[in-house]
Amino acid sequence: MRLVLVGPPGAGKGTQAQFLAAHYSIAHIATGDIFRTNLKAGTPLGLKAKAFMDSGELVPDSLTNEMIKERLLGADLENGFLLDGFPRNVLQAQVLRANLAQKKSPLTAVLELSIDNEQIISRLSSRRTCKECGLPTRAQEKCPACGAELYQREDDRIEVITRRLEVYEEQTSPIISFYRSEGLLITVSALGSVEEITRRAISALGPNS
Ligand code: AMP
Repeated sequence: MRLVLVGPPGAGKGTQAQFLAAHYSIAHIATGDIFRTNLKAGTPLGLKAKAFMDSGELVPDSLTNEMIKERLLGADLENGFLLDGFPRNVLQAQVLRANLAQKKSPLTAVLELSIDNEQIISRLSSRRTCKECGLPTRAQEKCPACGAELYQREDDRIEVITRRLEVYEEQTSPIISFYRSEGLLITVSALGSVEEITRRAISALGPNS
């Protein structure tokens, strides 16, 4: 199964991606996580991406497309993958389509998590992230999974959230029509508990294929 998960920041993509990837036994590829790992390790890619990430802008396509092309060569993708945070604009979607066409392994489906802006702002401005395991949480003191300290992502500050939503509207949301016209789009509501949303997504996506 080869999936793309799309939705505005704060729709719960990262959380759902983890559950869905585990359910279908496919690799979870999150471009935001790859950038953050590079940033933490101080690699040239991380350093180049930092200013864009901190201000809520997209990292340039040249860097992002190159990074994903390399990741799609990974040895762990034989069962398929779930892309979380990629593509983020129509050019990236076209590059992905060409890359997968070359491998004769086109996308199975694109799952859209839909949610309105008011909900997003309330979710993201209270979100904290674990310094150790990277888990996003609503807890404010210690990570519920590993007990480590939490921090607020630079890009979860209200000014940056507003910009990320604009970037989503202007640059990312056109990929919804792109995938609808390809007959790949499946939309589910991102409201409700984590478990409810996962169940909804699995029932919309169907069994492994
Ligand atoms: P995320 O964790 O998916 O919210 O991503 C955090 C940040 O990483 C985004 O605000 C962008 O700056 C950058 N980023 C992640 N994925 C992409 C992408 N596909 N294209 C460009 N920038 C990205």
